Amino acid sequence: MKQWMKKLVEQFDMDWGTPSSEKGPSPTPSLTEDRATLLYILDVYNKHLFEIQNHSVRKVRAKLDTFAKELVQADSEATEKTLFRLRQFISSYRIDEYTYVQNTFDDFKRIIWDFADHLSEEAQVEDASQADINQSLEGLREAVESNSIEELRARSREFINFYLKHQNSTNERRSKRMESIKKNLTTVKKQLMEANQTMRRDHMTGAHNRRSYDEQVRRYLQLHDIDKDPMTLILLDIDFFKKINDAYGHDIGDFVLKECVRLLQESFSREEDFLARLGGEEFAVILPGCNAEAATKMADEAMARIRKEVFVHDKLEIRFTISMGIAEITQGENADSWYKRADEALYESKQTGRNKYTLAKAPGIKRVA
Ligand code: GH3
Ligand code: MG
Ligand code: MG
Repeated sequence: MKQWMKKLVEQFDMDWGTPSSEKGPSPTPSLTEDRATLLYILDVYNKHLFEIQNHSVRKVRAKLDTFAKELVQADSEATEKTLFRLRQFISSYRIDEYTYVQNTFDDFKRIIWDFADHLSEEAQVEDASQADINQSLEGLREAVESNSIEELRARSREFINFYLKHQNSTNERRSKRMESIKKNLTTVKKQLMEANQTMRRDHMTGAHNRRSYDEQVRRYLQLHDIDKDPMTLILLDIDFFKKINDAYGHDIGDFVLKECVRLLQESFSREEDFLARLGGEEFAVILPGCNAEAATKMADEAMARIRKEVFVHDKLEIRFTISMGIAEITQGENADSWYKRADEALYESKQTGRNKYTLAKAPGIKRVA
């Protein structure tokens, strides 16, 4: 079986295999590459859901989880039914997803159009009063040509009055226009800022999201190129999180995720510490100015803090632990290699018992399988 498929199967084995009465590891489901690819797609979809109207992330996630479970366990007749429902679900969900993006885009377009409309209306009014001025000027020119001092006086007064009136109304219009433009701009700015926030934050936990992580890593690496200060990346993942979902439901799973972020924020609380939820129950913490040793100390404290925490739900005590991979940046290393080393270290923590951290190997040193 291919490596990525093995990894996928391992995930399902954790909870979806044997009922709790049976002992020992569940049998590995025999997966074809087609089915594994479908599961892989569902997993990716699951990790990058966002809140849209009529589809809370929580509900869609639960639904995708159910589809995945069914696809792992079902015989061929049941699979056919599952695939049918999956096709129906994806097509209707994708339409709503598209509509949501389109509507948001339309809102912005409307504001820009309103703005453009407003300006073109103003230009028309300006044109009309320009025509009035021309007419009044024409009258003045005729008076000059008529050689009549009375006519000239009357027309001059008329022109001055007209001009003053025109100036006043132009000023008034201008200040009204400025006010309305200012109001519009404030609205657009607010919406853009909100959209910016939403785009960079994970809506449920409030932590930064993957996109924000990618941007921040780039920024921190550029700074590191200049100041050469040590900097460490911690990748962490909640242990047996699926079991929490399965045992207590997705709401409690969500609650645990939020609590996990709260505790991590308390542990990594320096202004420059950067915490992001990369997907599901996986997080990254970037610690600028920390070498591996300092980061390990902070990591140890965070793990101890999380281990100690007990949540009570229906008289049941819920605890959870996390596993970590810790990688200090090395000279000239890029974001991918840094991430990969931390990820491999996290994988080793998972393979060797969980509820622990592992320090990453230096770049270029292969991990013994
Ligand atoms: P391991 O110790 O190996 O990390 O096992 P695990 O069960 O924690 O990890 P796995 O990656 O197999 O399962 C993660 C599950 O987290 C899968 C997905 O259904 C669930 N999940 C992902 N995002 C959310 C979420 O926002 N809320 C809830 N409640 N569950 C989520
Ligand atoms: Mg996990
Ligand atoms: Mg995980």
